[in-house]
Amino acid sequence: MPKTLGKVRPHLTQNEPLLFEQSSAGKKGYQLPELDVPAVDAATALGAENVRAEIAGFPEVSEVEVIRHFTRLSTWNYGIDLGLFPLGSCTMKYNPRINEVVARMKGLAWAHPYQPEELSQGAMEVVALLEKYLAEIFGMDAVTLQPAAGAHGEYTGIMLVRAYLEAQGNPRKKVLVPDSAHGTNPATAVIAGYEVTTLKSNEQGMIDPAVLAAAVDENVAAMMITNPNTVGVFEENIVKIAGILHEKGAQVYMDGANLNALVGLARPGDFGIDVLHSNLHKTFSTPHGGGGPGAGAVGVMSHLEPYLPGPRLKAVDGRWSWDYDRPKSIGRVRAFYGNFGVLVRALAYIMAHGGPGLRNATIDALLNANYIRARLEQHYQIAYEARSMHECVFSDACQERKGVRTGDIAKRLIDYGFHPYTVSFPLIVPGALMIEPTETEPKSELDAFCDALIAISKEIDEDPEMVKHAPHMTRTSRVDEVTAARKPKVRWTGE
Ligand SMILES: *Cc1c(COP(=O)(O)O)cnc(C)c1O
Repeated sequence: MPKTLGKVRPHLTQNEPLLFEQSSAGKKGYQLPELDVPAVDAATALGAENVRAEIAGFPEVSEVEVIRHFTRLSTWNYGIDLGLFPLGSCTMKYNPRINEVVARMKGLAWAHPYQPEELSQGAMEVVALLEKYLAEIFGMDAVTLQPAAGAHGEYTGIMLVRAYLEAQGNPRKKVLVPDSAHGTNPATAVIAGYEVTTLKSNEQGMIDPAVLAAAVDENVAAMMITNPNTVGVFEENIVKIAGILHEKGAQVYMDGANLNALVGLARPGDFGIDVLHSNLHKTFSTPHGGGGPGAGAVGVMSHLEPYLPGPRLKAVDGRWSWDYDRPKSIGRVRAFYGNFGVLVRALAYIMAHGGPGLRNATIDALLNANYIRARLEQHYQIAYEARSMHECVFSDACQERKGVRTGDIAKRLIDYGFHPYTVSFPLIVPGALMIEPTETEPKSELDAFCDALIAISKEIDEDPEMVKHAPHMTRTSRVDEVTAARKPKVRWTGE
């Protein structure tokens, strides 16, 4: 694959110079008319300490150069609107544009949280409807939409558990977390004041009921379970597991960040979960990945409802009102009522699909993941034999024999024009390749992705060194990630 075209630099490429390199002294991006008022000396008017003659090294460029520079850079940004985004445990689905249209409707987009209740009935109805639909999808009794993200939902959920147990006289000491859990789970438990006990998964990648039974005692406040877990496998003993925990008075927390495998097919409330969070910015199609706002809705069974963050919606004479009189509440976890724009998108997504549509989306997500698994299984080692749900996890065991690891394969995938999958997670799978296509991908896109990974596995057989030094087609080849993280160079020094 040639990288250059002889000596000529291609016109539109990833080889865009830095803005600093395009600078020429004295160039300006603006032009002002002659002054028609008396000139004022800036230093006299503002104080000399507030006036700077020039910013050393600041690029001097014209307007069109600035516009083209940033427009070109924006085309390097790989996003879901450009192609498959196979990150596992992320649910990077395409976000239907209708959600954006609805979220931008003036009455919703311009609503202010300090608006009086009588002018906020529509916005309050959005919150009420979304709480109702999510309670139905989760199979739970009540939902709060306040938490701003998944980890924040976890924190809220475990604080609810703590408040509930405290009301019974003892908050207990420990939270159990399987070794396949997302890193936010143990972090949440610690922030909520608990010690973490890690449970080892069995050879099927699942929680072993016998190991669990031995670990549960009266000191255990809760277990945090992800289902399907992070190896993409459904915990088939979940009812038994919930029973073991409940018998000892412990609560069952579910990390439902990615609910893409369950919506419309199975309800956590029906298989023994007491409290769960779900990322509306994953399954319910709010754009994410750029650190933008999210929402970590938390669902609870009725015994935890009194502890939910306040205020809560209540209907008074056919109108919505906020109820602040919640004596057992853990209190607010966020200003106002949650990330409202995200809630609007989630509601639009749910209503546009309807019940049968949501269920079909789930079935397609499962089908797509299993299609990828079926096509790649002869080329990459599947981590666990158990059937995959919405994502599939491989290991680099076959490629490692040639000295090529999952990170190298991911870099080579960039040369083929794809965003990499999730690399080296979950930690219980050495050299993991974690792939979640979601339901929004057409077969042609899944095939192109599988073709690329199959081609890479052949390249590894023939020329492992080439793959170990990928990517070859990008502006920057492999960067020193360790130095970049440890000694970041964040200031332009002119070299
Ligand atoms: C994404 C994710 C989280 C964290 O969600 P944030 O919104 O990033 O805080 C927690 N658990 C699992 C399993 C996840 O995939």
